[in-house]
Amino acid sequence: LKLVTFEAGGMPRPGALMMGERTIADIQQLVPGINSLLDIVRGGPGIMESLRDAVANPCASAVFNQSDVRLLAPIPRPARNIFCVGKNYYEHAEEFHSSGYDASADKTAIPDCPIYFTKSYTTVIGPGMPIPASSDWTASVDYEVELTAVIGKGGRGISKADAYDHVFGYTIINDVTSRTLQQKHKQWFLGKNFDGFCPMGPWLVTSDEVGNINEITVSTEVNGELRQKANVKDLIFDVPTLVQSLSEVMTLEPGDLIATGTPAGVGLGFKPPKFLVPGDTVSVSVSRLGSLTNPVT
Ligand code: MG
Repeated sequence: LKLVTFEAGGMPRPGALMMGERTIADIQQLVPGINSLLDIVRGGPGIMESLRDAVANPCASAVFNQSDVRLLAPIPRPARNIFCVGKNYYEHAEEFHSSGYDASADKTAIPDCPIYFTKSYTTVIGPGMPIPASSDWTASVDYEVELTAVIGKGGRGISKADAYDHVFGYTIINDVTSRTLQQKHKQWFLGKNFDGFCPMGPWLVTSDEVGNINEITVSTEVNGELRQKANVKDLIFDVPTLVQSLSEVMTLEPGDLIATGTPAGVGLGFKPPKFLVPGDTVSVSVSRLGSLTNPVT
């Protein structure tokens, strides 16, 4: 299933795409008590079964044309910060390390262990919403396409072998970053946390529909120019490793988001850097998931 959060009548509602993405079934009308995608993720296999039955044959009054509604981020208000991983593709690790913007303590480009930071939920915006680049006074705003895993079944001490059983599905995040603040403040948190610096969407695709993530590609276009393109199989630390290492120290909860890192081709890698400026349009895409497009203001 491809799940969305959409706005109709001024309220966010959970929906499921139908008819080759042209229409949306209003889940709130079809499955009583389900008011958000987080309710579905937390509801477990029982809810998913009712949902699949309901969406297979919805009444006409519960179907919207996608063109008539506004899509929001699939999880517009995560329950806590989004977990993110830095330098998780080999070529990007080299690119970032040699850019002069890497203030991390690493002496080498390729990390031995995943480098974690978080993005606050106040960064999250939906498809089509403007990325407020002009709020970064250092004018060093960069894009980062990232495959993002959504935890379904929570837990502590999850093994790599069991990790995929804990992944409900996937979405796309653009980990928008102020490179100068990322560098100046040593830890990456501040440069990653301007309001509006986390476009998410356009939908959340369930794991069964995504299939083997090692077969998928991620890419970015800025104003139609291809900047990033890579295979998820080239991650330094794969999704099972991330689930294992996070859950070794903390309890993962349903709805937690893990952004897996970005490949080479970010703006800072160019000489001179190609940072985002107002008027640009950024599209981040993941095969089998779709494309997330946002204007820059
Ligand atoms: Mg990133």
